[in-house]
Amino acid sequence: MSTPYPHLLAPLDLGHLTLKNRVLMGSMHVGLEEEGGRFEKLSAYFAARARGGVGLIVTGGISPNLVGQLKPMAATLATHRAASRHRHITDSVHAEGGRIALQILHAGRYGYQPFCVAPSRRKSPISPFTPWALTGRGVQRTIDHFARCASLAREAGYDGVEVMGSEGYLINQFIVEHTNRRTDEWGGSYSNRIRFPTEILRRIREAVGPDFLVIYRLSMVDLIPAGSSWPEVLELAVAVEQAGASMINTGIGWHEARVPTIATMVPRAAFSWVTRRLREAQVVRIPLITSNRINTPEVAERILAEGCADMVSLARPLLADPDFVQKASQGRADEINSCIACNQACLDHVFENKRASCLVNPVACYETELLSLPVSSLRRIAVVGAGMAGLSAACVAAERGHSVVLFEALSVIGGQFDMARVIPGKEEFDETLRYFQRRLELAGVELRLGQRVQATDLQGFSAVVLATGVRPRTVTFPGSDRPEVLSYPAVLREGAAVGPRVAIIGAGGIGFDMAEFLAEPRQVRAPPELAAFMAEWGVDHERWGRDPLASRGGLLSTPPTEPGPPTRTIHLLQRRTSRHGADLGKTTGWIHRTSLKHRGVHFLGGVQYDRLDDQGLHITVNGAPQVLEVDNVVICAGQVCEDGLLAPLRAAGVEVVAIGGAALAAELDAKRAIRQGAELGARL
Ligand code: FAD
Ligand code: NAP
Ligand code: SF4
Repeated sequence: MSTPYPHLLAPLDLGHLTLKNRVLMGSMHVGLEEEGGRFEKLSAYFAARARGGVGLIVTGGISPNLVGQLKPMAATLATHRAASRHRHITDSVHAEGGRIALQILHAGRYGYQPFCVAPSRRKSPISPFTPWALTGRGVQRTIDHFARCASLAREAGYDGVEVMGSEGYLINQFIVEHTNRRTDEWGGSYSNRIRFPTEILRRIREAVGPDFLVIYRLSMVDLIPAGSSWPEVLELAVAVEQAGASMINTGIGWHEARVPTIATMVPRAAFSWVTRRLREAQVVRIPLITSNRINTPEVAERILAEGCADMVSLARPLLADPDFVQKASQGRADEINSCIACNQACLDHVFENKRASCLVNPVACYETELLSLPVSSLRRIAVVGAGMAGLSAACVAAERGHSVVLFEALSVIGGQFDMARVIPGKEEFDETLRYFQRRLELAGVELRLGQRVQATDLQGFSAVVLATGVRPRTVTFPGSDRPEVLSYPAVLREGAAVGPRVAIIGAGGIGFDMAEFLAEPRQVRAPPELAAFMAEWGVDHERWGRDPLASRGGLLSTPPTEPGPPTRTIHLLQRRTSRHGADLGKTTGWIHRTSLKHRGVHFLGGVQYDRLDDQGLHITVNGAPQVLEVDNVVICAGQVCEDGLLAPLRAAGVEVVAIGGAALAAELDAKRAIRQGAELGARL
């Protein structure tokens, strides 16, 4: 069969086992691993991905013992009883024709619990707990526990294990001198420091036999100042193969690294060159897997065709669309719901101890709960507003057989999201609009663009979904009616001219995005360029993997390059005195703050807005008046509900339900809008 993705869809022969294609679902902890009983929800989640055609699934990280847990009561595999509970997972995946490996992860000093252990007693910058140093016997016991865990995984029906040796977890902590200050046979020289991973692999191979997959996740670039050197990475790869690994997966950056590696502003496939350089070194023969920001079949195919790796690891893209592989193989790539790398419903949830899901696919990890039930009577439904909430509700309702008309006042779909997509670094948001456009067509939704409806237009419908969203909050102070005061839609949607000196009122998500938009030195809207990205974040992209003398950890020894002189003087203002961006995503807020600092944006908190006149914007900060000489003031002060149709519709006796911003403007985001739309659509 001819396919645009011949490399991606080619089987991979591993000797005792052939994987049906080159897509590995990378390990993600989703918060279902700690579920009681037989892992019903986790099994359904994995089974959906197996049914969708992925070649090999890797579970979230499972600890080999109690002290290795990421947090108290975290998932652990240390007994036969625990192994028997995993049977339901492996049976469910195998019943769908899939393959699954269990990831063994010992958190080491990243353990968010007081009993965490490490090679040496050195606290990590991202955990409040100082680890206990493992004794020599403790090291031996830990190796035993890794081997026991692998053997129990085999007993539970897994096709293999992945040994987590990267991202700064325990094994990585042994490898790097900065975290390993030991003087026994597990510390000191590099060959002593890598004895821990190689012993683990050797003992695992001994325990599981030759016909079992053992993947080693190797940190190919640590992105921390005292990380491994490139020659050390090569030496480890060779040792790992010799110790019995069947494949090597790529790890990029420790969790404490200050380089974005998976967020949306990271260019697609930004780190596949790292795996390629290991492959080009020709020091190992086992297959290599590459990872990070691979979210379309085109990108995955290109990476494989260029010889960067033998397999690609997609993690979040399979949360976003469990049928990614099947759609690619059936010529339906335009139907793929692409991961936009926002982290909002996956990683941010995990860091908040909540169950993961996906902003663009609220069914992810809710496979047994958010079900589209059969419809008892088909209805004619009007959805008003084609923002994220309306799009989501219209699609689900139409897919269940209802006749759905979707009204949108503007000439495009997306609402607020259509403004978000013009922000530099949010180019991926285009994909979500492309996806919904296609899904509307497939579901048979009648889309009426450019039609602002009134209550009287909605009489013939048996139900109305009000998804009219939000409008920007207006802020009033003397002079706020002057023409130099602009709303964010005026700038982002209508292209209002903005002068070289700007004050932004409001430093929430939209204020931050506005600052990024106005600071952008690039004239043409385009995805971020790889070399510029690496230079800005201080990664030695040129020399890493080419020059053995490149700095440790793959970081430039000189300071990162600023992305050009600031195009504008930008003041980002807020009334509160707390840190700017405190409410931004847990895993991405620091990136936005750093990016704006790179662009010379001035943060000002505790601000009172006094007046605007010919001199500029008069403000008081901590009791001291000052004037910001600016050409424009852009208001990004939150939103209010656009729910004017609610009362007249109710008065007319129409069945109406408000969702998204039309229901509640406070703390609205696309995640809530899409989820509410899907939940309502599923029960109409
Ligand atoms: P809206 O998006 O407001 O959609 C309502 C739609 O209804 C509009 O298209 C409107 O034209 C239409 N409408 C209104 N009245 C009528 C009528 N009478 N007849 C017909 N049509 C009507 N969220 C995130 O989660 N992550 C982000 O990174 C993010 N970044 C953002 C960046 C920017 C710059 C902006 C502006 C927003 C961002 N958001 C982000 C917020 C997110 O886009 C919104 O919270 C969400 O999309 C709101 O969806 P909604 O459907 O409830 O409302
Ligand atoms: P927001 O986060 O609530 O921020 C509103 C800002 O306006 C705050 O800084 C607030 O700070 C200020 N403000 C509120 N009322 C004001 C008033 N009357 N006068 C002056 N200033 C006022 O809202 P948003 O920035 O509009 O974002 C909307 C939603 O979109 C957010 O909930 C967010 O989840 C989502 N979003 C997310 C991202 C992302 O990257 N994840 C990006 C963009 C948007 P002070 O009260 O301190 O002045
Ligand atoms: Fe991707 Fe965002 Fe969904 Fe996470 S929440 S899988 S980053 S789209």
